[in-house]
Amino acid sequence: MAMVFQDPLSSLNPTVQIGTQVTEVLLEHRDMSRAEAAAEAVVLLDRVGIPDPRRRLKEYPHQLSGGMRQRALIAMALACSPRLLIADEPTTALDVTIQAQILDLLKELVVETGTALVMITHDLGVVAGLCDRVHVMYSGKIIETADRHELFARPRQPYTGGLLASVPRLDAGRGTPLTPIRGSARDAIPWAEGCAFAPRCDNAQDDCLTEVSGSTVPLEYDGPGRQLRCRHPLEYPPAPSGATALGATR
Ligand code: SF4
Repeated sequence: MAMVFQDPLSSLNPTVQIGTQVTEVLLEHRDMSRAEAAAEAVVLLDRVGIPDPRRRLKEYPHQLSGGMRQRALIAMALACSPRLLIADEPTTALDVTIQAQILDLLKELVVETGTALVMITHDLGVVAGLCDRVHVMYSGKIIETADRHELFARPRQPYTGGLLASVPRLDAGRGTPLTPIRGSARDAIPWAEGCAFAPRCDNAQDDCLTEVSGSTVPLEYDGPGRQLRCRHPLEYPPAPSGATALGATR
């Protein structure tokens, strides 16, 4: 397993050349000589799209742009051919253009190397563009799991529905107010007392705060490929026959 962290500037050692930081991974974990590690570092930087990798290896993190630094971190993460890559908000510190480039790079690398990618993000646009399956978490627990298309077309948990409804839409009329989820994350109650989202949920009823067989609101089967932690989920009219999940209306 390997991990790519949120802020590339603070993840890299500012006093050590990029080349030393990349080769360190190879020397520690791949039993290479210094010469072999140096040659492999060039290949790795080239693979993540860093131009002139030989020169970049001699530079310090502050001499690279934000996008380059994140590419260098991804190169380090890929150095040992991980079967699982965990990326924790890897594009949050980057502007949108570079963000798109990094997401494209991750997509390419997953296809090319067969590495599984777990993307941790608050950005629903990133989820829509990159992920196959989505696990929505609230207050430390998974509250809904589904295929990406299913989840975006028919969110069942009110928190998931609230997240999607709060995304600003370009096709909304001028002056259309945003639709936030009321309250804040601080309003969550402990799961041991009931559904943590209950204080903010428009569907909440008394049984959302009642404990059943050791778990207040268990994660349960909610149709093929779906799981849900909710007593009173969002409902949808039946899809017309032959309609795909993506074509379902909310
Ligand atoms: S369990 Fe109840 S409070 Fe929690 S999200 Fe579902 S309806 Fe709302």
